[in-house]
Amino acid sequence: MLDQADFLNAVASAECALEPLELLRRCNALEAALGRDRSRERVKGPRTLDLDILLFGTEIIDLPALTVPHPGMTERAFVLRPLLELEPDLADPRTGRVFADFLASVETQGIYPAGLAALY
Ligand code: AMP
Repeated sequence: MLDQADFLNAVASAECALEPLELLRRCNALEAALGRDRSRERVKGPRTLDLDILLFGTEIIDLPALTVPHPGMTERAFVLRPLLELEPDLADPRTGRVFADFLASVETQGIYPAGLAALY
């Protein structure tokens, strides 16, 4: 949705001792604790916080509540750019294709490094 204020995207990489569904449950609890109320949101509209699990090591997870790798990640430059800053050679565990390949085919307009908003 283009008709909304700028938003900040970030990717974090961490070691995790939790099971994937427990990590998801805690992510959802964090979203709620920071004021997220899904019942009042428009789809792809502004959100106080949206935490997604992009990858879980090289695991492939197909559960009703959790799909990993995250299904939309290869179509979003605002995900791929910060991910590749952390892990430039990372590959999609489903296909073996490096994520850097996907960046070339997604629209990057409207994305700029945090802190440089005044220049854009
Ligand atoms: P969202 O509105 O984008 O926060 O996503 C809503 C729901 O997507 C969550 O409650 C999860 O059950 C589901 N979901 C499926 N796969 C994932 C994933 N990889 N990361 C986060 N949420 C996911």
